[in-house]
Amino acid sequence: MKLLVTGGAGYIGSVVAAQLVEAGHEVVVLDDLSTGHEDAVPAGATFVRAPVTDAAGVLGGGGFDGVLHFAAKSLVGESMARPGLYWDANLGGTLALLEAMRVAGVRRIVFSSTAAVYGEPERTPILETDPTLPTNPYGASKLAVDTTLTAFARMHGLGATSLRYFNVAGAYAAADGRVYRERHTVETHLIPNVLAVARGGGKPVSVFGTDYPTSDGTCVRDYVHVADLARAHQLALAGCAEGTHRIYNLGSGTGFTVQEVISVCREVTGHDIPVVTDARRPGDPAVLVASSELIQKELAWKPDRASLREMVADAWAALG
Ligand code: UDP
Repeated sequence: MKLLVTGGAGYIGSVVAAQLVEAGHEVVVLDDLSTGHEDAVPAGATFVRAPVTDAAGVLGGGGFDGVLHFAAKSLVGESMARPGLYWDANLGGTLALLEAMRVAGVRRIVFSSTAAVYGEPERTPILETDPTLPTNPYGASKLAVDTTLTAFARMHGLGATSLRYFNVAGAYAAADGRVYRERHTVETHLIPNVLAVARGGGKPVSVFGTDYPTSDGTCVRDYVHVADLARAHQLALAGCAEGTHRIYNLGSGTGFTVQEVISVCREVTGHDIPVVTDARRPGDPAVLVASSELIQKELAWKPDRASLREMVADAWAALG
């Protein structure tokens, strides 16, 4: 298939693009490099440096069978400070893409959605049918895209799948010998921050909140290996049915506290990682754990690398 991967120079998009190239697809990556890295685009893919709002120029070339859409703003804190930016980039960007797809007759899309659409969940594990009450503009803008996809499927016959990621971790060693890893300029995620401290990053790790109603007072999250997550995109693409919008949670179904993650990082790296207790980070729910039963049942997806130790070990090895 000929596929467009928007945001394919980012962490998750580049792993998906690499797997698609490995699977023999013709891949075009569209990325403006606002947060991505050109050297993360797989060698076998064609790279177009442009914003997602220019998708019409690429899709107009013809022959595309589907789109995997990752290009987005994804920092919760930034979304609180600059909500307009998030609505514009995430909803506005996706609307431009969907319109370009409609004009070019491209009928399949897999969308990178998020657990942030659920906000503070009433229960765990979270089901796709649970209430969506996002607590920040990032989650709200992603939820708005989910709603838009439902309308485009119904009204324009699009085949769409939203994958609601929980916490993505690990790195991907591709068949071509390259290693794709998380490397954000502004790193907010727990595991890369902890591993940076293990490498000698100076300051201790800040643990955001130790008074949550959890086993050790720190937040519980559900970590999924980026290679497993990427594989789910291939299954989702194959499963896209015209006129239908499917939504699936993607996690491993097991929760780990922040302290447990840090302990695993200590074991894997052999470093005594210093921590300091910090205030709660605004908008952090106490517990986010996915039920991924639906995608397991309908798309036969199963995490192969569900162990947190393997995710941390892969991320650590990727740092070289
Ligand atoms: N966290 C932390 N210190 C950090 C980064 C994150 O204590 O330097 C906590 C954060 O408050 C949350 C969990 O680790 O409870 C996971 O945060 P992350 O940003 O990795 O993912 P999120 O769950 O926000 O998508």
